[in-house]
Amino acid sequence: MEQRVFDGPFGVVGGGVIGSGWAARALGRGYDVVAFDPAPGAGERMASAVERAWPALRKLGLYPDADPTAIRFVDSPEAVGANAAFVQEAVPENLELKRRILGQIDAAAPPTTLIASSTSGLLPSELQRDLQHPGRLVVGHPFNPVYILPLVETVGGQATSQESLETAEAVYRDLDMFPLRVRNEIDGFLSDRLQEAMWREILHLVADGVATTGELDDAIVYGPGLRWALMGTNLTYHLAGGEQGMRHMLEQFGPALEWPWTKLVAPPLTDELIDRMVDGTQDQAAGRSITELEALRDDALVAIMYALRESRLSSGRIINSREGRSVDHGAPVRWESGAVVECPLALYRARVIPDWVDYNNHMTESAYLLAFGWASDALFRYIGIDETYRSNGHSFYTVESHLVYHQEVSTGEPLQFTTQLLGHDHKRLHIFHSMFHAESGELLCTNEQILIHVDMKLGKSSPTLGGPKSVLDEIRSSHGQALRPDRAVMTITHE
Ligand code: NAD
Repeated sequence: MEQRVFDGPFGVVGGGVIGSGWAARALGRGYDVVAFDPAPGAGERMASAVERAWPALRKLGLYPDADPTAIRFVDSPEAVGANAAFVQEAVPENLELKRRILGQIDAAAPPTTLIASSTSGLLPSELQRDLQHPGRLVVGHPFNPVYILPLVETVGGQATSQESLETAEAVYRDLDMFPLRVRNEIDGFLSDRLQEAMWREILHLVADGVATTGELDDAIVYGPGLRWALMGTNLTYHLAGGEQGMRHMLEQFGPALEWPWTKLVAPPLTDELIDRMVDGTQDQAAGRSITELEALRDDALVAIMYALRESRLSSGRIINSREGRSVDHGAPVRWESGAVVECPLALYRARVIPDWVDYNNHMTESAYLLAFGWASDALFRYIGIDETYRSNGHSFYTVESHLVYHQEVSTGEPLQFTTQLLGHDHKRLHIFHSMFHAESGELLCTNEQILIHVDMKLGKSSPTLGGPKSVLDEIRSSHGQALRPDRAVMTITHE
């Protein structure tokens, strides 16, 4: 398991939508959080926001020590500054307020503590103007929901040190985020400028009575929106230009840009326009509360990110690396001459990932086999069957499996596998895997298997080679003393 970039705690000042999102993300990563928000009931609201975020974080993969209750509320921004190793400010978007709060954090925090502002568009040079240590102030602009979306725009002001930016980015990467350096300090940074351009156009189209809010959302979600999650606008248009890519695209559609179709100046926010926007989105919500819609959104966002995992496109890359970092599969162990052989062997750990569950959020039959396949792989590595052994044309193939399901198991649950060798001869292997809940110890499923050693080049069974065979003999001399599991039903000769 990888080391964390700092030991924590992670500090949060301002516990609204964004501050709670930061807290949830840091807690899921296994940090303690220290937080301040002066509003009455803010502590309870933050705790319940973390609770609502937890199912999504569980699906994405919680880290060891992740604890939704590891949040401590203090009574001032100074107390956060004095107690946290990294502070993320998330107070309302108001320059004077932010400067005052950042000043309070700065006055109390040791000079090595980094301070990041969540501002959506205020310039860091403005925010850091009166700080005692302006070099440590960076903007880390996240996207809602902060506990799921990886993007965080990082922006330095005139006084921000390069080292602060790099360290903040390392912290964000450690939180499984995608820090995007905004190299020029501009109002609104990058992503909000793009989003706002579209939003301005939406307001015009609604104000002119051209389309409803629902129709405009349909115009995105069934088409461009699906592409945006993978490739963004530019690479998507490069593909739309055929073999000549972007060049052809610009030749073909460039003239239309000069008309232009779209408007740059926002329409006046009249009462009528506000009503149309509010009524339109209420119709779209169709009676569902914000909390219900948030849960729906979280599930779907996580599913989209998992869908991109195989291709490693955009956020799929984050899922890939997060899985590798957050799920402790147990380092591959290889038997060393003279080492004691445990009975049973406990060689593989895993966590139920969203790909492994059905619509009831229960692990599917095929996923059990997949997981037991990894447990067999861990046994193979233990006895010395690795990539080299396989590349020489030898492997074990499963010829029979007997699964017994004991308990349902859902996304995010931690699993521990054990393996008992029931028998082997020169070609065959008879093993009994048990899958347990790694925290409760409850037995979830067992899988008894017979495998046969093969020469893959000849496509025939063949004797196990000397190295692995002698480790199997060692295992047998330990496991041979153990009781045969009640559920075991198969035998091979010589057992
Ligand atoms: P919010 O209104 O939900 O939360 C702000 C919180 O700050 C409230 O809980 C409030 O009680 C608290 N607060 C007020 N005064 C404070 C003080 N003196 N000290 C500490 N806390 C104080 O707002 P939000 O949407 O969470 O936005 C916070 C920041 O994040 C803003 O700068 C905003 O621009 C930025 N941001 C928002 C979004 C978004 O989608 N909402 C996205 C990215 C960034």
